[in-house]
Amino acid sequence: MDIREGKRQDLTPWGEVLSEVEAEVRPRLGEAGAVATYIPALARVPARQFGIALATCDGVEAGAGDADLPFSIQSISKVFTLALAMRALGSRLWERIGREPSGNPFNSLVQLETEKGVPRNPFINAGAIAVADRLVSAFADPKAEILALMSGLCGEPIAFDEEVARSEADTGYRNVALANFMKGFGKLDNDVATVLDVYFHQCALRMSCRQLARAAGFLCRDGRHPRGQDALLSERQARRINALMLTCGTYDAAGEFAFSIGLPCKSGVGGGIIAVVPDRLSLCVWSPALDATGNSLLGRAALEAFAAKTGLSVF
Ligand code: GLU
Repeated sequence: MDIREGKRQDLTPWGEVLSEVEAEVRPRLGEAGAVATYIPALARVPARQFGIALATCDGVEAGAGDADLPFSIQSISKVFTLALAMRALGSRLWERIGREPSGNPFNSLVQLETEKGVPRNPFINAGAIAVADRLVSAFADPKAEILALMSGLCGEPIAFDEEVARSEADTGYRNVALANFMKGFGKLDNDVATVLDVYFHQCALRMSCRQLARAAGFLCRDGRHPRGQDALLSERQARRINALMLTCGTYDAAGEFAFSIGLPCKSGVGGGIIAVVPDRLSLCVWSPALDATGNSLLGRAALEAFAAKTGLSVF
């Protein structure tokens, strides 16, 4: 059902759950938090928006609120580029990237210095830039590969927002520093500008909650493609991505997310958060205003409400 058309209520059982979650958090829109302002395209996104969608492992989809409005997925893209790199490189990927929470800001340079250019995990910026470097080595056209993956997962065309990609490049001084730092340690194989062009574009993917919930389906289906039985990843690889999402997916709030929600999640500064209930469903929430940890304030509240209502958790 197209939720946008007349905002019809989704009366399926999952649709009702999501509508209840929406009813619980929507009154809090505008109450607190602030949209990301480091680039104009994000700074002008109206804060008072909320969407939520889910896709079950057996193909049922549901949504509520602004579930079909596309937004800038930002760091959520790190999950999908990691999947591409794991598929292309297998365990060789881990020669240059760790698997520990960083306990530092997502764009911190400090740890990278003491750890000699090896990022703590693939979800901090340095780690995602290192993953982008691997993609540049593995594919003739890594940006086309990313679009093909996302479009294939969603079953509809997905595109980069070129304005966002340009702004990321114009203002990405810290990311330029991180990439040069890793290059200085001999940990990037490719030209810094080429690697960052991939990273800035992946951040600029535009997708809706419904599309992201569907795309993340391989994570609740033991690595199987959400539309078919083909393996995108092995079961073990999919589990490992879920483990990284749980421990490192929500900036410095991963402990709190595990404590209060109990699901692997990955957030982005565009206000989206994806979450996975292994063997059951994948979901995505979006509300642009962020809390002090850089996670969507109402997105987080909605996931807490969803977990409380359904009792779904990995624990
Ligand atoms: N484009 C942002 C950056 O690289 C992504 C931040 C995020 O969503 O965590 O700084």
